[in-house]
Amino acid sequence: MENVLVVGAGFMGTGIGQVCAQTGYRVHLMDIKAVALDKAMSEIKWSLDKLGSKGLLKGTPKEIIERITPEKDLSSAAHASWVIEAALEIEDLKKQLFKELDHLAPPGTPLATNTSMIPITRIAKATQNPERVLGLHFFGPVPLMGLVEVIQGEKTSPTIFERGVTFVKSLGKTPVRVQRDIPGFVMNRIFSAAFREAVDLVAEGIATPEDVDTGMRLGYGWNVGPFEITDNSGLDTSVLIGKTLKGLGEKNLTPHSDLVERMVKEGRLGRKVGKGFYRYTPEGKRLPWDSNEQT
Ligand code: NAD
Repeated sequence: MENVLVVGAGFMGTGIGQVCAQTGYRVHLMDIKAVALDKAMSEIKWSLDKLGSKGLLKGTPKEIIERITPEKDLSSAAHASWVIEAALEIEDLKKQLFKELDHLAPPGTPLATNTSMIPITRIAKATQNPERVLGLHFFGPVPLMGLVEVIQGEKTSPTIFERGVTFVKSLGKTPVRVQRDIPGFVMNRIFSAAFREAVDLVAEGIATPEDVDTGMRLGYGWNVGPFEITDNSGLDTSVLIGKTLKGLGEKNLTPHSDLVERMVKEGRLGRKVGKGFYRYTPEGKRLPWDSNEQT
């Protein structure tokens, strides 16, 4: 059984770890915070039970969860066939992690980052073997979303890139190849442009988040509107992404308004805390921010 080390057990790392275990890999799920690991394991259990009850799992939830080991450090990189980094969207943090992972992982092991925006080439520069560094950009919630962008850094070897495509397929996901390494790759550039406009329209009082989301669903066939997506992925992550984009000279992809930053300061981080652009009941039902319905 092949070992996958997932670094960072937040929203994305938890989902990536779960999907790897579901598809037969042995997973080492690492985080510096014990509380994040506890939360990750209970969320995976909850999700597997739900998928299992719908007959959507190969094997039982118990068998799958037994393939996941929570870890407090990176030492399991030494016997990993794949490493996927999903820690915070902070360039210096990712560079430090890749420097360490490059020392620890066997020479043939690909080192993937799930960065939303940072060019792979910049992260790969922290290693002595940039040819084994690539982007695997998953979409959240990972157990439900079918797409993974596979991103070729300037120095990523063609073999590692193709192994990335094959690995993504082995997870039951569909790869999209990104053959030149630019900030935000393909999907996040398109989403960021839409989100920039949506935030500015709401900040200027032209429409409510609910009406924008309804419009994008019914008018353009999106399954989920931009504010629903951002509540799910986290407004704090959205702020980090905005800072990264500005730092990379891509200010045109960020809102003019500081609405999201203000919301984060008020603790409105999205679904994970029960309030973001919407409010959420303890059962997870989404309500408009200003509705009178009790949560
Ligand atoms: P998150 O805040 O939910 O989780 C990040 C985790 O990384 C935390 O649990 C934190 O404790 C951990 N961490 C911090 N420093 C670490 C270290 N040195 N070693 C190991 N773990 C460490 O963030 P997230 O939403 O899961 O995003 C993770 C990455 O995935 C980011 O780069 C983000 O841009 C990217 N991404 C996010 C989404 C999304 O929808 N949220 C989608 C695609 C990609």
